[in-house]
Amino acid sequence: MHAFIANLIRRGPVLTDGSWGTQIIKRGLKPSESPDSWNLTHANVLGEVAAEYVKAGSRVILTNTFGANRFVLEKFGLADKAGVINRKGVEISKWAAGEKAYVFASMGPSGKLLAAKQVTEDDLQKAFEEQASAMLDGRPDAIVVETMMDLNEAAIASKAAKGTGLPVITCLVFDSGKEKDRTMMGNTPEQAVEVLSKIGVDAIGANCGQGIEGFIPICRRMRAATDLPIWMKPNAGLPERIDGRIVYKTTAQEFAGFVPELIKAGANFIGGCCGTDQSFIREIGRALRKG
Ligand SMILES: [Zn+2]
Repeated sequence: MHAFIANLIRRGPVLTDGSWGTQIIKRGLKPSESPDSWNLTHANVLGEVAAEYVKAGSRVILTNTFGANRFVLEKFGLADKAGVINRKGVEISKWAAGEKAYVFASMGPSGKLLAAKQVTEDDLQKAFEEQASAMLDGRPDAIVVETMMDLNEAAIASKAAKGTGLPVITCLVFDSGKEKDRTMMGNTPEQAVEVLSKIGVDAIGANCGQGIEGFIPICRRMRAATDLPIWMKPNAGLPERIDGRIVYKTTAQEFAGFVPELIKAGANFIGGCCGTDQSFIREIGRALRKG
């Protein structure tokens, strides 16, 4: 495990950030727009989102680079801008973090299915290497490979991220199966630990897909399978469609009520994914201080 990550978690669980997508949509992102393109056009707005998380107590914030790989960017005609979009994304979060928080650069999925042969392993690897090396130019503290639905893609992205020499955290979405303890492609928490440990990731975890209650057994199973630090970012419950809008109904207080159990299950990094905002980060922070 990377010494930087070991040091960071030494004194107890670390508060990360909440959703960026929800915040950017609230600030006017159109459905036809690439969120990542805002690094070039709306740097100040993104800086505000990041700064609000730092103010709410996040010790680690991510970057607006979730979809900044060439496969997602090409849908918006921006594949050739991957380099500058990633570098800028890291720079914006670093500016907002100052000395108060660490910046972990976000790498999301390609949107292509390996299993359906929509992409080759080689091309996937090249795209993630391109993204990781552009992120490195912005000098982040670590890379987070997140929201992965396929362990094979997670492994390819993690190897590309490891190539930078930065610490790497990899997390998957467990939202399938009767117990909601498998990825879309059927991978279990134990399989994720086995494959990703071999690659040498510095922390492992889960994000998105379901509410915090469902993360507790997943965290416990990962903890039983590894000594690596565990990263947990649950959603604010499951999304519901109300009057054409997507709504997450779990409140910050309800979410934070489960934090002690998540700590007991072995979590080392705690934050939120879809539907969570600065108020969730403040409430999780309170729960962490109570221990
Ligand atoms: Zn999410």
